[in-house]
Amino acid sequence: MTFSVSLEEAYFGSTRKVTLPRWQKCKRCDGSGAEPATEIRTCPACGGTGQRQHQQRTPFGTFVNVTTCTDCKGTGKRIDSPCKDCGGSGRVRKHREVEVKIPRGVDTGVRLRVAGEGGPGASGGPPGDLYLLIKVEEDPRFERHGDDLHLRKHITFPQAALGSEIEVETMEGSEKLEISQGTQNGHVIKLKGKGMPRLGRGGSGNLYIHVVVDVPNKLSEKERALIEALAEEMDVSVKSGGGFMEKLRQWLD
Ligand SMILES: [Zn+2]
Ligand SMILES: [Zn+2]
Repeated sequence: MTFSVSLEEAYFGSTRKVTLPRWQKCKRCDGSGAEPATEIRTCPACGGTGQRQHQQRTPFGTFVNVTTCTDCKGTGKRIDSPCKDCGGSGRVRKHREVEVKIPRGVDTGVRLRVAGEGGPGASGGPPGDLYLLIKVEEDPRFERHGDDLHLRKHITFPQAALGSEIEVETMEGSEKLEISQGTQNGHVIKLKGKGMPRLGRGGSGNLYIHVVVDVPNKLSEKERALIEALAEEMDVSVKSGGGFMEKLRQWLD
């Protein structure tokens, strides 16, 4: 049974209620499969053995094939009035709500054991354990690689060139981060211990901030003129918008 959890739940841990199907002995017929106070007869097809024998003659001798009786499905009994609650099977499907503890740091592929919630044990033994296969959902903000988290953070060209203090998201809320002067596109900043908790081992992975320096694609007249002025100062050739230098001089006066 697969069980989906969000990245938050995997980070903080949680307790979730899960509805599990469970087969139980039918109360109406006490597991016999027959309506109360009706007769249960011996299966006439197999004589109550639940098996059918087929003889097969071959040149090498006579072989006996034993198969399960199809009339009674191996029970050896014939029920004329099947129980109205279970339809003759003797068991009913009940849903049961159980609490499942999701430990901090679970990842996709982890199996969570829910003690005593498996199917009925063989030959009347105690019920087995149920295993839930964890699937951690994709998160729109963070990308997870093992215990580490990765986050893309867009900054503007002036912030990258001059340095800035920005806010970044972590799993525990936003945090101030120093962008140093001259930060390049693709620069990675490591926030130690801000990744996922390590399941069953203690400690945490890291959070890596991948800096993306955005180039503006829409410029106001003034922005265009300022960037043209910068290009002129850096002595690089650019496509000129025309006439803006004049305006810039007016603005700067
Ligand atoms: Zn029944
Ligand atoms: Zn039979």
